[in-house]
Amino acid sequence: MAFSKEAWETQRQQLEKTNFKGMVFWKPKAEGRYTIRYFLSPNSTNQYPFVLVFTHWIPFSDGVKPVICTELSEYGEKKPCPICKKRKELLGTNLIESVELAKQIRPSRAYLQWGFVKESTSEAFDPNPKLIGLPKTPIEQIVATMTAYDDDEEEARPNIFDLKTGKVVLLSKSSENNFAKYTATVSGKTMPINIEPWESKVKETKDIMSSLPIPTELDITQALDAIDIATGSFDTSSNGVGTAVESTNEAEGQAHTTLGSALNAIDES
Ligand SMILES: [Zn+2]
Repeated sequence: MAFSKEAWETQRQQLEKTNFKGMVFWKPKAEGRYTIRYFLSPNSTNQYPFVLVFTHWIPFSDGVKPVICTELSEYGEKKPCPICKKRKELLGTNLIESVELAKQIRPSRAYLQWGFVKESTSEAFDPNPKLIGLPKTPIEQIVATMTAYDDDEEEARPNIFDLKTGKVVLLSKSSENNFAKYTATVSGKTMPINIEPWESKVKETKDIMSSLPIPTELDITQALDAIDIATGSFDTSSNGVGTAVESTNEAEGQAHTTLGSALNAIDES
């Protein structure tokens, strides 16, 4: 696998100009009910309803942090991902702790789009738009609703993106057997965001891919170091008794299907 540092650096510099510092994307952290008002950035050339991104959740000494997988995410040009490579090495060791760590850092899937969010603990929407990342299940539910009618009846489809007539999405997160469970429904409620305080914020948003923090070489090196430290901290002599690392990823399985591409092929109207 050729790894072009130059190409990597060029892409990173292009995208870094518009990075939102420290933010990858918003996702519901706690269990509860959330309300989302999706929209498409007027400054985006992306025609797709949701953009598929994969993230590695890396156990750093000061907490678990996301690093975007440049190999699986839907960039224009994909790059080999050193974390994926490391993960395969860990899986190949057959050491129980290494394999558990490999499971923990496996690429976790999220479908991204802009939106305003009303947190489960809040009475009102945050007026600052967020790049929202949801797992496959709620996105499939939303897309099923968006495409519920035949094309000749498409005006009957609920629109969740229109600035004036878009409907809000209700999202609930619960827990089942230690895995997060999501349910998303398109509400009957319309929320116009072609008025203030929303409209000016919508206009400030950028293309999704240019809003993502593409990992720098330093980010990658630090992530690989953190993985090595996590692996080295395990006592391999007590193999079989070892500390089980609870997966913090969503219950999505391992299949990297072409679903993202299929979803992206759906016309947004
Ligand atoms: Zn990766």
